[in-house]
Amino acid sequence: MMNIGLTGGIGSGKSTVARLFQNRGAYIIDLDVLAHKVEEPGGAAWNRIVKHFGRKILDKDDRINREMLGGIVFRDSEELEKLNSIVHPAVFEEWCLRVDDIVNNDKEAIIISDIPLLIEVGWHKAMDIVILVYTSPGVQTERIMKRNGYSYEEARNRINSQMPVDEKIPFADFVINNEGTPEETEAIVDRIWKKLLEKRKDSKNEEIKR
Ligand code: ADP
Repeated sequence: MMNIGLTGGIGSGKSTVARLFQNRGAYIIDLDVLAHKVEEPGGAAWNRIVKHFGRKILDKDDRINREMLGGIVFRDSEELEKLNSIVHPAVFEEWCLRVDDIVNNDKEAIIISDIPLLIEVGWHKAMDIVILVYTSPGVQTERIMKRNGYSYEEARNRINSQMPVDEKIPFADFVINNEGTPEETEAIVDRIWKKLLEKRKDSKNEEIKR
């Protein structure tokens, strides 16, 4: 098994790159999906979130209103920390379950976890390899304005609320520059995929020697 953390800023191309690796045989875990799951009614974090923030953050169907919760925590860093201290351990547990499931079926799985805040949260330490998808803030801005229909202002605010991508480079084993055409990115993914397969073969040979 090989655990790979895939990260990058909003709109840098993480999902796009994850799909390319999936097409080549990687297993993908999307941490945003897990985060939504634990916050659903009955999910591991729902109770504790409601206990702390009150039922005012719920919609009629008992779902957490993310806009409203966002409105609270993005104005108050202590509340954001509290929310993170509830959600992150629950997501991590869910992630471990997914990894176990995959490995039970395929001992040699190459698992790529798409984790937007991989480095901020410190989970890069739990990964064998870190891949960073890089685009400059200018390209990020253009792409999320187009994808999400954000105004320039909204796009910049979201990008500026994250750790600057240049500061993430030292944590990465591989950097994928996704400023070029999709074909150029695909060629980079091919090169990295080959290296991952070689690494997996090397570690298998090591095991046999031992
Ligand atoms: P993330 O998952 O990091 O938020 P996405 O993979 O959704 O980013 O990519 C952001 C947007 O940019 C999407 O609309 C995607 O289709 C587009 N995109 C991604 N890579 C490229 C590329 N190399 N050239 C042009 N558009 C791209």
